[in-house]
Amino acid sequence: MYEGEATTASRRDLDAWRVATSGNPLEDDSFIQRLLQRHLGERWADEESRLQAVSKAAGARLDALVRECNRDENLPRIRRHDPFGTPVEDVVFHPAHHEVGRIFWSSGVLAALSEPGHETLAGAISYLLDQQGEAGHVCPVACTAGAIKLIQRQGTDEQKRRFLPSLLNTDYDRRLHAAQFVTEVQGGSDVGANACVAVPEPDRPGFFRISGEKWFCSVADAGLFVVSARLEDSPAGTRGLGLFLVPRLIDGATNGFRLRRLKYKLGTRSMPTGEIEFENALGEAIGPLDRGFKNLVAIVLDTSRVHNALGACGILRRALVEGSAFARNRRAFNHCIAEYPSVQAILARLKMRTMAALTTTFRVLAMSDRLDPVEQDPDLLAARRIAVMINKYWTAVASTFGSRDAIELLGGNGTIEDFSVLPRLYRDAIVLESWEGTHNTLCAQVLRDFATRGLHRPWLEHLRREVTALSHPDLESTAATARGLLDEVEGRIARLLSADELSAAAHIRYVVERMCRLTDWVALSSQLQWEKKSGVVTDTDDALELYRLSELDRADPQETPQLIELNRRLSQTI
Ligand SMILES: Cc1cc2nc3c(=O)[nH]c(=O)nc-3n(C[C@H](O)[C@H](O)[C@H](O)COP(=O)(O)OP(=O)(O)OC[C@H]3O[C@@H](n4cnc5c(N)ncnc54)[C@H](O)[C@@H]3O)c2cc1C
Repeated sequence: MYEGEATTASRRDLDAWRVATSGNPLEDDSFIQRLLQRHLGERWADEESRLQAVSKAAGARLDALVRECNRDENLPRIRRHDPFGTPVEDVVFHPAHHEVGRIFWSSGVLAALSEPGHETLAGAISYLLDQQGEAGHVCPVACTAGAIKLIQRQGTDEQKRRFLPSLLNTDYDRRLHAAQFVTEVQGGSDVGANACVAVPEPDRPGFFRISGEKWFCSVADAGLFVVSARLEDSPAGTRGLGLFLVPRLIDGATNGFRLRRLKYKLGTRSMPTGEIEFENALGEAIGPLDRGFKNLVAIVLDTSRVHNALGACGILRRALVEGSAFARNRRAFNHCIAEYPSVQAILARLKMRTMAALTTTFRVLAMSDRLDPVEQDPDLLAARRIAVMINKYWTAVASTFGSRDAIELLGGNGTIEDFSVLPRLYRDAIVLESWEGTHNTLCAQVLRDFATRGLHRPWLEHLRREVTALSHPDLESTAATARGLLDEVEGRIARLLSADELSAAAHIRYVVERMCRLTDWVALSSQLQWEKKSGVVTDTDDALELYRLSELDRADPQETPQLIELNRRLSQTI
């Protein structure tokens, strides 16, 4: 076939783009290195080589395997009978899925949780692995992390001994992995409407028979399910819900459930999400039965929400890598498209969003590491609880916008499934927005926490201390902006809490968005201060300036000529 000079050159450019996207996720990402140096402190020196090893494994090989298991024809499916005709409720995966699993589990992402105080490290490993859009293992890791923490904090000694070693195992082929089934057809936000029942097992204290239907069951292949259900005589609503550990198999046989079907989903497609009918499945209570909902929110969902944010950071970073490399290697009208100011504006915005999401997410992880596991500081716990919820919301939205931005940079090629990872990231990002608490549900919970428990006070106090610590002479105006924002948000919360119920419900989401912007600003400013004190020259100050102009001041670009140069500088590097 005839191929003109321009066609050949264009194919060369595409090859160069592909090479540029297959780098080392840790080495190429100076911002995450600085964040980790700051939060891990002296431990960075010990952990760097471990993270390097994960990063190497998380490169091109993982990418190719993930592409393979995400092809339509390789998605998971149900198997109803084993080779000898015995009925089973299994999920079958493409072999590439298991190859990916070995890389994920051997990274130590879960084993790092065997002792408290390693949330930042585990989060860093997750972030490196999460850049492939591989929900097939990202979601099981999040669910298993939640089960580990639930058992560590609420389990009996016997439960810890029985479950923790296999949940923490780094050997994929021997590991136990977990799922969490809460949502029923009548609603995921309104968990109090759960109708699944738990009937005490005669003569076996602590054991129950679970019956009913769960409507969204991700990780349908898991070996251990964490299930919410209510005792027959328990109060209505969330107060009557207990939490149960339900093994998939009892003595090798299916434990009283039927996998009705796997959902045909928009995103996270390589991870099986089923509808499951339980009928007298044997389960055991985990934690006090009357604290089921509290433990679900404070431990299980809390863990998933942090993982959700890490997933969003991974999507944003990968979108930036893909979009930036493409812009640098794509020519149109005789210019590399990265030279056009409108392309630079997209790249700069994507980079700013990525830096903000990473900074606030690792801020949350650092708060987790500061929490003493035995005597948890109630104020830090409360500040972190609010931070986790608003960060889940804000980072998930950012990942949708960010992956969409990168698709725009690739033009029509950005919409092609096997051209780049971006369509998958975009579809997964929308799922990140829905599960583990929709935006409105999270906002409603924040409002309840403020109104009934006064949790806005520790949340504000925590930020105030960070703002007060912004003492570097170069950060005078940054700190002044932070103080102004803090006063504004404090005033808005006070107004919200003195308003009638209807107005408060109508305005909470706007207030949460102002809280998110305040958090972004303070977190990025604190990071910049650390960088300045460490003598590192970075572009965090440029990211902050773009944040101020675009997110806080909403500057009119025609009246703000410095935006052009700012976007150009920020778009030069990733
Ligand atoms: C791919 C995927 C996998 C999932 N996997 C699991 C799983 O493994 N386990 C599990 O338990 N769940 C799972 N879920 C379910 C998920 O947690 C729920 O979808 C989510 O909690 C929302 O519930 P819902 O879909 O029933 O929406 P609804 O609760 O019906 O909400 C619909 C809309 O109404 C809004 N809304 C609800 N209440 C209020 C209110 N008070 N004020 C204002 N707005 C409100 C919501 O924000 C939302 O926009 C999964 C979901 C998806 C998409």
